[in-house]
Amino acid sequence: MKIQNEVKISFPSRSSNEGFARLAVSSFFTQLDPTVDEIADIKTAVSEAVTNAIVHGYPDRLGTVQLHLKILEDRTAYIKIRDNGCGIPDVPKAMEPLYTTAPDEDRAGLGFSVMESFMDKLKVLSRPGKGTTVILQKKIGERGKNG
Ligand code: ATP
Ligand code: MG
Repeated sequence: MKIQNEVKISFPSRSSNEGFARLAVSSFFTQLDPTVDEIADIKTAVSEAVTNAIVHGYPDRLGTVQLHLKILEDRTAYIKIRDNGCGIPDVPKAMEPLYTTAPDEDRAGLGFSVMESFMDKLKVLSRPGKGTTVILQKKIGERGKNG
């Protein structure tokens, strides 16, 4: 599908960049004039994916997190979050609700479930030792003349 606009951002996997990523993503998609709920859903999903890259992708070192944001011509917000970290050995298992490899760090194992429920599409690609790519998509509703 045709891309109407796009931006790429990359940053080191410092936890202080999680809030930045959330705000950067929400300001980019503001041009679609989303509702408060739509933008809140996107921010929550991005926050989960970026946190995963930071805490699971690079558990003991700093690495790069890349965001690729696109607006597709049917008003779809497309978000790709990529790390070059440790990767996930079994993606379907990792995506199961309540599955976590870090229970002692107070993780609930609900990040992927949250992404799935707040977005229209979720795709996870991963190779152990190579890293993980998460693709999130959400179609933003048409705005009527009166907002
Ligand atoms: P929560 O998100 O509720 O704090 P969690 O991060 O463990 O807990 P999910 O976000 O659903 O739960 O992720 C499930 C599991 O998938 C993680 O415990 C981790 O093992 C693995 N995982 C997720 N993202 C990555 C990533 N980017 N790199 C490596 N492993 C990942
Ligand atoms: Mg998580």
